Amino acid sequence: MNEFALIRKYFQRPPRRVRLGVGDDCALLTLVPGEELAISTDMLVAGRHFFSDVGADALGWKSLAVNLSDLAAMGAAPRAFTLALALPAVDEAWLAAFSRGLFDCAERYDCELIGGDTTRGPLTISITVLGACPSGGAVRRSGARAGDDVWVSGTLGGAAFALSRLRDGRATSRDAARDALERPTPRVALGIALRGIASAMIDLSDGLVGDLAPVLEASQVGATLFVNQLPMPDVVAAEAEARRLAFALGGGDDYELCFTAPASARAAALAAGANANVAVTRIGAIDREIGLRFVDADGSSFRFQNGFAPKSFDHFA
Ligand code: ADP
Ligand code: MG
Repeated sequence: MNEFALIRKYFQRPPRRVRLGVGDDCALLTLVPGEELAISTDMLVAGRHFFSDVGADALGWKSLAVNLSDLAAMGAAPRAFTLALALPAVDEAWLAAFSRGLFDCAERYDCELIGGDTTRGPLTISITVLGACPSGGAVRRSGARAGDDVWVSGTLGGAAFALSRLRDGRATSRDAARDALERPTPRVALGIALRGIASAMIDLSDGLVGDLAPVLEASQVGATLFVNQLPMPDVVAAEAEARRLAFALGGGDDYELCFTAPASARAAALAAGANANVAVTRIGAIDREIGLRFVDADGSSFRFQNGFAPKSFDHFA
């Protein structure tokens, strides 16, 4: 099977909203007055971002989902994406499963594959997504202000928990944690619903503590997190405290949204979550004082057990 046949069979679909999709030297999209394009690229490398034996179907889904998560974090609506693929060999069963997972995600979030590149090489998947926002309406990292609340969507730590089970050779059948790791849900509808409500936003790819840092830095503020308010899946909540908090505060790959919003927007933030069908939980507050602090339910400084400190804690100490 040559390159063109491969592209035609697995990656070419009739264009829907774009003017011209796969098949020419470029794709063509019509620009809409009053909108801005949001553009983001994420690369997944076998052995680094995923186990090379992970199911191709899940990999196809996740490759696009992690990119859509970046659009969500700006409040952008998915429009189209390109796919650059390096393949060690043509494995049709793998390609069929990969493209199935990829298009499942593309259709679910209404994002069209409009082009890409295909070469031989170590398995690498690079996707660039294009999204749309009303001009000036994108939510940036730099807008958090002292007094704002810190919110998070969904639950934290599920993906890291599932990864640790896999690493320990304790693979399980599909459950919520495994789905969080392998088939993450990009919070596209929530991101859009939070336009005009969130003052700053980021998606959680590396873990809450690590990912909050660029928001605090860009906004030149600090934050206090309410350790007892962190939403976790039941399997994570059932773990001993140090493990539970390591997953929830430091575990990556959840692809939830973390956002800040003024206290006057609490009802609006909850409504945005309800409209987008995902829980949003208030987990902290933005402070004038630079750094990240952790407090207990009564507001006193949280004492982590056994010298445990959440990842990136030292950057702020
Ligand atoms: P060129 O040589 O002009 O760069 P290619 O031969 O690389 O074109 O690709 C032919 C067409 O197929 C182009 O429209 C390109 O965008 C598309 N394409 C190539 N690889 C992929 C892929 N993995 N997924 C989607 N479209 C692809
Ligand atoms: Mg090319």
